[in-house]
Amino acid sequence: MKLSQLTAYLETLAPLSYQEEYDNSGLIVGYPDQEISQALVSLDCTEAVVDEAIATGSQLIISHHPIVFKGLKKFNGKTYAERVVEKAIRHDIALYAIHTNLDNVMTGVNARICETLGLVNTRILAPKHNLLKKLVTYVPVAQAEQVRKALFHAGAGNIGNYSEVSFNAEGVGTFKAGEGSVPYVGEIGARHHEEEVRIESIYPANLESKIIMALVLAHPYEEVAYDLYNLTNQHQQIGSGMIGELEIAVDELDFLGEVKAAMDCKVIKHTALRNRQVKKVAVCGGSGGFLLKNAISAGADVFITADYKYHEFFDAEGKIVIADIGHFESEQFTQQLLCEIIQKKFSNFAIRLTKVNTNPVKYFI
Ligand SMILES: [Zn+2]
Repeated sequence: MKLSQLTAYLETLAPLSYQEEYDNSGLIVGYPDQEISQALVSLDCTEAVVDEAIATGSQLIISHHPIVFKGLKKFNGKTYAERVVEKAIRHDIALYAIHTNLDNVMTGVNARICETLGLVNTRILAPKHNLLKKLVTYVPVAQAEQVRKALFHAGAGNIGNYSEVSFNAEGVGTFKAGEGSVPYVGEIGARHHEEEVRIESIYPANLESKIIMALVLAHPYEEVAYDLYNLTNQHQQIGSGMIGELEIAVDELDFLGEVKAAMDCKVIKHTALRNRQVKKVAVCGGSGGFLLKNAISAGADVFITADYKYHEFFDAEGKIVIADIGHFESEQFTQQLLCEIIQKKFSNFAIRLTKVNTNPVKYFI
């Protein structure tokens, strides 16, 4: 299939617009219309992973972490990022990264951590603002339902577990068709009054062009009147970190033991235990220290993340147990998640999980 078929699907699950500003998710090397028959999935795109792609005949590497974050100025093999990009280009291997956009969705990196730890009643820890918009349009009564259907089908009207959400109010619209127009009702040069429904519905901003296209196609008028509003509401399904609950509260040490086994960690660095049961758990794969305040205010007993520095551990202040399980360890199951997502959709496409352990951190125990 074409590379763009695969990336377009991944971007319906984790739209590129959901990535953080510093990130560089998306197609880094390669052409959208190149043919691919096999992809290799890895957390990091290292030279060893490119070698593995060459050896296994994979035309694409899908990694969680982008190999390139900032502009590369020279390609003379001095840094690993330059060597990886150059080698990939020389061997016609496309590089695709699905990073913070996959961190920020309800079915991504943190959802997999929650699943692995057996957390239930999960939700986003720090939902993002300014990702939702509202469409208001005016439709003749007889066509209101076909327009609503089209809008819902294109992705409008979803709030939490509710779909097909809209508000509808009837009123009268007026218009006077000018020369050269082909009005659906009324006559050229005379003001027409039409019973219309004002339909309002919320939608994710990244679907805007799709939703407007659906509106214009479903609406009977030659000129479709609609208003688009920016909303400052939180998007409950998009954001950083997640929080959930254990079905049965456990002792702190037992919990850390379970985390160590489930997340396959060699070691967990943690702050002082609080001698209480663990019920609520916040998680953030990778460097999640910026979410500590959210984890505390959400009432989490333990915050599982990575990349904590010495002084940052003091911020626990006895209000929570910070557990640093390691960056690679926290995100390693993202690889399986990506394989599963792709296999489910493209059952005939060959998808391989890397055999390379790309963790640059080694443990001397
Ligand atoms: Zn990471």
